[in-house]
Amino acid sequence: MDQSTIPHWYAPDGDVLELVEGEGVRVSDADGNEYLDFLSQLYSVNAGHSQPAIADAMAEQARKIAYVSPSKHNDQRARLAGRLAEKAPDSLTDVMFSVTGSEANEAAMQLARDYQGASKILTRWRSYHGSTYGAAALTGDPSTRAAVEEHAAVTGHAKFLPPLDYGGPFSADTPEELAEQAADHLEWVIRNEGPDSIAALFTEPIAGTSGAYPAPPGYFERVRELCDEYDILLVSDEVIAGFGRCGDWFGIQTEGVEPDMITFAKGVTSSYAPLAGVIVNEEIAEHVGEEGMPVGQTFAGHPVSCAAGNAALDAYEDGMLENVRDLAPHLEARLRDLESVPEVQDVHGRGFLWSVEFGRPDGEKDEFLFDPRVDEGENPVAAVRDEARARGVLFGSGRPDTQVLVAPPLCTEQDDIDRAVDVLEASVDAAFGANG
Ligand code: PLP
Repeated sequence: MDQSTIPHWYAPDGDVLELVEGEGVRVSDADGNEYLDFLSQLYSVNAGHSQPAIADAMAEQARKIAYVSPSKHNDQRARLAGRLAEKAPDSLTDVMFSVTGSEANEAAMQLARDYQGASKILTRWRSYHGSTYGAAALTGDPSTRAAVEEHAAVTGHAKFLPPLDYGGPFSADTPEELAEQAADHLEWVIRNEGPDSIAALFTEPIAGTSGAYPAPPGYFERVRELCDEYDILLVSDEVIAGFGRCGDWFGIQTEGVEPDMITFAKGVTSSYAPLAGVIVNEEIAEHVGEEGMPVGQTFAGHPVSCAAGNAALDAYEDGMLENVRDLAPHLEARLRDLESVPEVQDVHGRGFLWSVEFGRPDGEKDEFLFDPRVDEGENPVAAVRDEARARGVLFGSGRPDTQVLVAPPLCTEQDDIDRAVDVLEASVDAAFGANG
């Protein structure tokens, strides 16, 4: 491989995989080795690799007219906006496009602050919302936040604990009790921050890179009630959870709760082209209509990306969402077999988004903020992923890096699941030796 092409800023160890082809769930490298892509690259190639219909739609739009500025009409853009609003919960009616998930969250923050006349935004510890200054400040993962906090004071943010019983103050006997304790804690944070100072609460409906953990039953109903009671906008960050990943169009729909805004990216085009945005309720849309959006981006709602988006949505409608619903119980059952491994702390997730979370071999639950083994630079979880890669399956890493994330494309078949989980089991054995 030409060393000058190595993206050293992302892979300082130089361990770079050069992927040159893909088809469905399979990708192959420059040496002809084939892998099952069980992380959909970045939890984002939801429709699978090299789908001809998506590539053709993009080419056709580029041949017709590749670029039309965001303030003008483009039929692919208008059609995609209409389809997204139709798939979102009923109260969400209007779409504002941007380019990346981080920028979608920036736009949602601007909208929330402007609409509410308040500045504070609440987010969870152990969350990920992006890498720009504002979106990184939303993020509850300490390593991401630290990277921006070193350079600038980003104000107007407060954090609350996720509904997790790892370390932390919650000690519940049932998931319902955990939901109640975590919601009571959230109310305490809201009251202490001052409800009038809070514009919005951003949350991933099912955590993404921070561990694919769904909330316990009843939690999101309480969050919605608290947002209503204290006049706080509820924003569902669907950058990973959306577009079939959790078995419905948007992750929050699996919780039966209506947010005031949804932010999206990644899966909207199955990552064939960059596209992101915010879906807002009628009141926010009307507010923007009166005031006009003061800022925008050149590539927001790019026509070629929107063509990819419409073709990706066709693929999801054409059986892929159903495939997730059909096969998710099988994926879950196979992964839960790993719970008998002493080092496996927990297996959690929903749909085609799962985390096998590793803990201490003595069975004690680690605190969720960090894992001392990772801090010491000896991370057996990375060894599990390396073993799996050597056996032909790519899995994802999370923040903190105590987990193997499992997020295959939505077109993945049962045989692929069986092979990938067999490989994961063998890799855990290899990484943990006789214990595994
Ligand atoms: N929100 C969530 C939940 C994400 O997982 C990500 C990226 O992984 C983002 C926002 C940021 O998206 P982007 O990397 O496109 O800026």
